[in-house]
Amino acid sequence: MTCTHTPACPDATSHDCCSAHTVADHSEQGWCQLCNGVILFDDGSYLAPDGHVERVPLSA
Ligand SMILES: [Zn+2]
Repeated sequence: MTCTHTPACPDATSHDCCSAHTVADHSEQGWCQLCNGVILFDDGSYLAPDGHVERVPLSA
């Protein structure tokens, strides 16, 4: 997946991967897809492109 944002979105393996831009908003279904391939769920977890689920790290 190629990011065209400036500055570039964090990589899916980055600790701040959930701060990437939303590219597909399905919030009515409880999830959205981020630019780096991460699927972010509204319950505070996310699905990484490699298939594992993690809690969204709290910022600050
Ligand atoms: Zn991007």
